[in-house]
Amino acid sequence: MQTYIKTYGCTLNQADSDIIVGILNDAGIKQSHDEDNVDVIIMNTCTVKGVTERKILEKLSRMDGNGKKVIVTGCMASANPDLITKYAPNASIVTMPNVARIPSILDYIGSGKRYVIDKYDAVDRVAGFRPTGFTIAKIPISDGCLSSCSFCETKFARGRLNSFSEELIINAIKYSIKSGSKEIQIASQDTGAYGLDKGTNIAKLMHKISRINGDFMVRVGMLNPEHLDKYITDMIAAFDDRRFYRFVHLPVQSGSNRILKSMRRNYTVEGFADIVRELRAGIKGLSLETDIIVGFPGETETDLEATINLMNDIKPDVTNISRFAARPHASASRLEQI
Ligand code: SF4
Repeated sequence: MQTYIKTYGCTLNQADSDIIVGILNDAGIKQSHDEDNVDVIIMNTCTVKGVTERKILEKLSRMDGNGKKVIVTGCMASANPDLITKYAPNASIVTMPNVARIPSILDYIGSGKRYVIDKYDAVDRVAGFRPTGFTIAKIPISDGCLSSCSFCETKFARGRLNSFSEELIINAIKYSIKSGSKEIQIASQDTGAYGLDKGTNIAKLMHKISRINGDFMVRVGMLNPEHLDKYITDMIAAFDDRRFYRFVHLPVQSGSNRILKSMRRNYTVEGFADIVRELRAGIKGLSLETDIIVGFPGETETDLEATINLMNDIKPDVTNISRFAARPHASASRLEQI
């Protein structure tokens, strides 16, 4: 049995694909790089942006039309299974928490039958992590988040926060280093919420990672600024370990408190600016990345001006700017659009 994995989306999705690779390897199932000559194609999908979703659906419809055997997993499998069925009625659907079952259903799907597992149970998926031997190991540390940002579709795909156990994460990191990985990317939807459902937090996890011996670097994934005040001092202390890249990705999304409120982002512009000042004071040579959404419903010229002023004040090293796009389940799609 030969499979091909196509991955869309964020570092967490890429980490999940590495877990699928590990599960298939364990079952002796090979992966090919040749999409056209395999028995089953596994599509790890993303729903963050309409553009990506349309691209995925077009590809799915084409493959279905050509009689390809496809398993769809990732965020679209849990957020919009009906959409998948509409564009690819023969495609199988397996939500991320259930990917460990893929080896057992491959023959069934390979024989042309359809299989759907769309329930989404909270499982410590990192338990299935197998070192890939890749230079960069992407390690998922949690599923879901504690926020409910009004523009976000991912919330519907991944649900409520489920932080994976520190012990399993540390083991996965040790495996990876032993198998030759030189960089560890810890990934989740909101790394900043990590552990808040289990009596720990990202700073504590970083200190535990620091106790691992070895020559490797660590990149901490995206953090919603909402939770940093809970552990910022401890987190800054963790960056004393030079193996943590001096990099923080802190999406602010808007420079207007009125718009942040409408986005249901639970911090203020002033609070965000204070956090940035504190991080820069504590982490020498910090590289700051942020995200901005432009054209959010209700945004006025004054709001946009406030965002531009914030960018001029903060001067992030990297800014990802995206145009607001209404997402099917996100409440902002029901507001008057610009
Ligand atoms: S923190 Fe907000 S934007 Fe990020 S996944 Fe959660 S709801 Fe979506």
